[in-house]
Amino acid sequence: MKIISILNQKGGVAKTTSTQNIAAGLHGLGKKVLAIDFDPQGNLTSGFGLDKRNLDYTVYDLLKAKSFGTSKLNFGDIVVETSFADILPTNIKMSKVNLELGGVPGKESLLKEILKDVYGYDYVLIDCPPSLDTLTFNALMASHEVYIPVQTEFYALEGIVELMDTIDIVTHRMNDDLRIGGIFATMVDSRSKLHVEVIGQLKEFFGENMFKTLIRRNIKVAEASSHGLSIFDYAPRSNGAKDYKGLCVEIIEREES
Ligand code: ADP
Ligand code: MG
Repeated sequence: MKIISILNQKGGVAKTTSTQNIAAGLHGLGKKVLAIDFDPQGNLTSGFGLDKRNLDYTVYDLLKAKSFGTSKLNFGDIVVETSFADILPTNIKMSKVNLELGGVPGKESLLKEILKDVYGYDYVLIDCPPSLDTLTFNALMASHEVYIPVQTEFYALEGIVELMDTIDIVTHRMNDDLRIGGIFATMVDSRSKLHVEVIGQLKEFFGENMFKTLIRRNIKVAEASSHGLSIFDYAPRSNGAKDYKGLCVEIIEREES
């Protein structure tokens, strides 16, 4: 079971969209996938077609059960099955976590402890919030790898150094199994010179860690999430479906090599 955090502290770089479509793409290639919505905005939960305002329990309740031991809730009570992957959903309630866990010893390892008892998945994908906080540390503590989506725009590399420093700190102090699994470019407009330049810089900075597949800007990708569908169900012949499938093939190839 490989656990991967999809992380970039910048908002709007396609973390959530990519988590959903990589989950669906890996499913299409025969893998069993669990997705974890770890951003209190709950966009991944909506993307999976669930009503985030109407959930009995969320991953937040699971974290609380683990930290305070006040309830007997476990993974099986929270996980929701969908046509392409299982999901631990969330909603805005989870934004209280940083405050509530403030003084709890070991607060960064709760997700890791939860996932210790989870079996049967090939991949676990964690959609991280756009911040470097307790939730993100929980994700990184639990993960084997980090995938970093980068939007190919003028300020793309801004914040990357800070992100690398954070990952280094986590690696040295908390989880020395953690490594960078790959970087991929999102919302690429191949007609623009700027994108070519930014992708060149990314390749220079990340070398082999850069995935070859580029995720192009494609309106169908945005539409799919808004309908609670993956790109493969919404528009299987779109560029978005082609790109995410290509990325998933590369992910599996990296795994096998
Ligand atoms: P993040 O989770 O990093 O904040 P999102 O996945 O929510 O980013 O994506 C930000 C916005 O960009 C959303 O409105 C999403 O629908 C849109 N988007 C993501 N990927 C693409 C793409 N390949 N083409 C067009 N729009 C995209
Ligand atoms: Mg998001």
